[in-house]
Amino acid sequence: MATETRYLYRAPLVLPVISPPLVDGAVLTADERVLAVGPWAELRGEADESTKVVDYDGHALLPALVNAHCHLELAHLDFLARDYQPEPGEITAWIRRLLAERQECGAIAPEDAMLAFAQLFAGGCRTVIDIGNDPAGAAVGRHFRARLLFHLELLGLSGEREEAALARLAACPAELCCTGHAPYSAGARLLRALKERTLADGCLLPIHVAESAAEEEFLLSGGGPMADFLRERGVDLAAFSPPGCSAVAWLDRLGLLDERTLCVHAVRVSREDVALLADRKAGVCLCPGANRYLGVGKAPLELLLEHDILPALGTDSPAGNPHFSLWREMQTLREDHPAVAPATVLAMASRAGARLAGREKETGVIAPGVESSLLAVPCPAAGCDPEAALEYLTTAGGDVRLEWIE
Ligand SMILES: [Zn+2]
Repeated sequence: MATETRYLYRAPLVLPVISPPLVDGAVLTADERVLAVGPWAELRGEADESTKVVDYDGHALLPALVNAHCHLELAHLDFLARDYQPEPGEITAWIRRLLAERQECGAIAPEDAMLAFAQLFAGGCRTVIDIGNDPAGAAVGRHFRARLLFHLELLGLSGEREEAALARLAACPAELCCTGHAPYSAGARLLRALKERTLADGCLLPIHVAESAAEEEFLLSGGGPMADFLRERGVDLAAFSPPGCSAVAWLDRLGLLDERTLCVHAVRVSREDVALLADRKAGVCLCPGANRYLGVGKAPLELLLEHDILPALGTDSPAGNPHFSLWREMQTLREDHPAVAPATVLAMASRAGARLAGREKETGVIAPGVESSLLAVPCPAAGCDPEAALEYLTTAGGDVRLEWIE
């Protein structure tokens, strides 16, 4: 009987994320799974004749990252975020430009979407929660060892548009995860129907929530720049009654908030909203790079953490974020929230997304049982001690050189 090859990786620093950093640590793997993680002094005795010992001298080992919010189908419009800068907070101006460019350029070619996915994989992401309006996006991840969790996004706020979205939802194949765009673009009936479907099929329900002042004003009063924009798009606002509350309170009234709903952005959230998110155990994903590009403000990360909410991190779409990298998201977050510990920021980019995606037993941490796909990153000049390495990893941005350990 063939003996399976076991690998024992040794490194001056191992960051399991789910447990404290290990100085002179080791990870034992076999059959594409982690068997054990611990100090080298403890695991070195595991090295028998079927074990290959690999020394990652000068490196830190860390888990695969998770991009918890992305729109790969907009990757061919990445020039928009580079060439066009909307006035701060003018999200409707950016959406207008985005829709015009999409009309002009047409749908993304499958190879371009794959290239964007490959770029995320090369940057250390093994799991991506992706949102798209075209069900063809579900096929993009098929040829990768990385995991693409695709969600078909439906829009329809009121009247005939909402009816059409409900009909589309009813016709969606059972294996396709479906979601709604945002509380200003998906009506109450549609959002409830989507939640009902995810309760039955176990899919996550990622929704853009509380991203901008324009959204806030629209939900409170039914007016403002978002109403102007929706009217321009032919949305029947006469058939829409504004809920007169925050986006978070509205989703709660609709019965949507629970641990399988992922509130993306969460910028314009009050203390009451955060308490509600915590109480309902709702998932939260922050997109600091996209928020900075659109000038919509910063999510209250410290307040979320105070409420025991560990948000995940997402790049959002390459058309609305000039940097398509989770390392850049960590860097932006550190700049925006210097008091937040680097270890927390790394956990947001790995463990938090894995947990929200229901994959914590598979990825995003280094622990027995998870996949053995790990990252090896050279330690900074300051050395491999946990403090220096975590500081470097969360501030290096796009400059991180990494190697996948498969
Ligand atoms: Zn988005």
